[in-house]
Amino acid sequence: MNDIANDMKIRLAVLLILIAPGLAVGTAAAAAEPLPQVRLFTTGGTIQSRGADRQTLMEYNAGKVTPQELIDDLPELKGVADLSYTEIANVGSPSMKTPLLLKLASEVNAWLARPEAAGAVVTHGTATLEETAYFLNLVVHSDKPVVMVGAMRPFTAVSRDGPFNLYNAVRVAATPASKGKGVLIMLNDEINAARDTTKSNTYRVETFVARDLGPMGFADSDRVVYYRKPLYRHTARSEFDVSALSDLPRVDISYTYQDADGVEVDAFTAAGAKGIVLTGGAGDALKRAQDQGVVIVMSDRKGAGRVMTSARVAARGIVTADNLPPHKARILLRLALTRTTDPAEIQRMFNEY
Ligand code: ASP
Repeated sequence: MNDIANDMKIRLAVLLILIAPGLAVGTAAAAAEPLPQVRLFTTGGTIQSRGADRQTLMEYNAGKVTPQELIDDLPELKGVADLSYTEIANVGSPSMKTPLLLKLASEVNAWLARPEAAGAVVTHGTATLEETAYFLNLVVHSDKPVVMVGAMRPFTAVSRDGPFNLYNAVRVAATPASKGKGVLIMLNDEINAARDTTKSNTYRVETFVARDLGPMGFADSDRVVYYRKPLYRHTARSEFDVSALSDLPRVDISYTYQDADGVEVDAFTAAGAKGIVLTGGAGDALKRAQDQGVVIVMSDRKGAGRVMTSARVAARGIVTADNLPPHKARILLRLALTRTTDPAEIQRMFNEY
């Protein structure tokens, strides 16, 4: 018995000597597996803001957080992605105007065109985050993930939401399943589609919702999980190209209410608007604008549901916005006007994007 046992031991030892180098190589190879390369593009917003103390959850203007500080604050990201950054701006999102949008689009496109790039994350103030998200959804020409992230509480707050949102955004950008889903919005563990999602609450952390449609997926502890993907055209399948542009056509929005008399529609036309998004009737001002060549798109102020096309509306040369809220209809109309002023062709774009 002893001999047999000894023989077994020797055989086992020989086997281990034979396979051990292979094991060692395998382990070294696994350790050297490069992490996905993700670039953080920072623009500012609450996620990069400081309050005077840890209780301050509004009027936080005690300084800005730099991209390097955001990264240093999250050493856990070292295990998720090989992260670099480009600072685009450090402003509140109402200051994200056309030149900054064009700069952001050009930098994100340049990064994603690099073969080594796996994805991009963009920090942004939440007030206009969905506008930038939808803009990028239409002008980024890549299937690689682009994830917009913000925060409802400043960097300095007790129970701040920014770091976990950013951690999840980098995870989502580094996840192969995030490819081909258009620009994503990542806050509060939820992955939402740029086109469909709106900030719905001025103050609560569960603010971004895709009202008619729900989230696409979640960044959960075990994995990033998706349940659906957008079917409207976006990113790699978009026909819009802003790479040679230094500005976009002016488009304004008219918000309707009882007793509205369309005076703003005349003012927009006089200011040089090439398009106006309406949320209701504008009386004679609508016809006056159209006579000046202004393209009219009909959206709605309710923020959910479709504005449908009818033969009567189409015959009046009015484009309908599908379920885009006015501020997103404005983004698409600006891009549409870089290609055509024909209402029928613009309607085609509103039906596809
Ligand atoms: N004022 C901020 C901004 O939109 C609000 C936020 O980031 O949540 O930039």
